Amino acid sequence: MTAITAPRGTRDILPAESWKWSYIISTASRTMRDFGFSEIHLPIFEHTELFSRGVGETTDIVEKEMYTFTDRGGRSITLRPEATAGVMRAAIENNLCAQGASAKLWSWGPMFRHERPQKGRYRQFYQIDAECLGIAGPMADVEVIALSLELFRRLGLKNLEVVINSVGCEKCRPVYRQKLVEYFSSHKSELCGTCLDRLGRNPLRILDCKNESCGHVADGAPDIFDSLCDECREHFAEVRAGLERLGFTYTVSKRLVRGLDYYTKTAYEILSGDLGAQNAVAGGGRYDNLSSAIGGGKIPGVGFACGLDRVALVMEEQGCSFGERPGVAVYCVAMDDESRGTVQALTHSLRMAGISAECDTAGRGFKAQMRAAGSCRFACIVGADERAGGTVAVKNLADGSQVSVKACDVAGYIGGKL
Ligand code: ATP
Ligand code: MG
Repeated sequence: MTAITAPRGTRDILPAESWKWSYIISTASRTMRDFGFSEIHLPIFEHTELFSRGVGETTDIVEKEMYTFTDRGGRSITLRPEATAGVMRAAIENNLCAQGASAKLWSWGPMFRHERPQKGRYRQFYQIDAECLGIAGPMADVEVIALSLELFRRLGLKNLEVVINSVGCEKCRPVYRQKLVEYFSSHKSELCGTCLDRLGRNPLRILDCKNESCGHVADGAPDIFDSLCDECREHFAEVRAGLERLGFTYTVSKRLVRGLDYYTKTAYEILSGDLGAQNAVAGGGRYDNLSSAIGGGKIPGVGFACGLDRVALVMEEQGCSFGERPGVAVYCVAMDDESRGTVQALTHSLRMAGISAECDTAGRGFKAQMRAAGSCRFACIVGADERAGGTVAVKNLADGSQVSVKACDVAGYIGGKL
């Protein structure tokens, strides 16, 4: 029978890599806490409507990337392609932003998009996500951008570029949209097929096209800043001033529009110089219309999502530190078969005292056990003499010294040296 493999675009994160992911996630967890964000856990599948309404019918995600199926009860279900819509749904459903309250929430986990797999692009990938809900003012945007940049600073990422833009609001975007339609209509022959299609449905997306010819046309497109309403213009100016006050450098790009429909005002992306084509390590922005699009009241929001797979890739390529690979401190070794039970009991007593410890459970010989102990701080060795005397030979594996310690004192002895 042929062996079953993981589906295309998915992969196994094995121990050689997973400890590095744990480091990234624990660094994220600390950073989020330091910024006052609380962790949440949400469903991995939601009603399809949440995304078709919340992300937008004309986005790439909804049009061609979602994993959608009908469940046994006949409901249309989608594996979440992104986190924000689910966070907003949860906030509405659980009244987290009732009576003008705000909520600062973060999460991490798998997302699913049916894309063409390549380096840094998978069909199941992972995001670290932070959302600040209920605050309309620009200070919240600055907090969110600062949070993502502080996370990357703590992780040691270098060569990052912050790109920001404003995509306007429901008042000024229609005016800009019309200007774009007029401009791109006069350059139809230079646009790719996808962009010709976008022209009637979502012309802003043409600005984001990676096709060279479309990019060329987009460079000459009208600037959104000429169309922004006073409120959006002022909001953007305050975000910029706030970033500058915190000492961040950034560039403004009128071509940054992001893939999601619900974005308003601030849009931003953090790019890495070390990722090639898939160069975005995080993206985010403000989404004041998401809540009403999915049936909630008016709850403004701003947030970001960072690609965990891509961050790990860049950290690897830039030689960033992942801290020390975690392992147990003590390995308990049986010199003979008769000592194996005593050794397992000793191992357990160390663990109960809060000391990480391991012993062989596969019946391996003394030499193999000592080899396995190699990466530990101490080996606790038990043979016939130790059993008879109620002692344990404690070997310090850093300097090779060995002492005999009463069995009941081993945890205290080692605990004092770790
Ligand atoms: P891209 O332009 O690379 O397709 P995007 O605009 O679709 O990115 P977002 O929806 O903003 O991405 O998601 C935020 C982050 O999640 C991205 O910056 C990226 O780091 C990561 N990401 C998005 N799609 C994938 C994927 N298929 N595989 C791995 N990481 C991804
Ligand atoms: Mg994408």
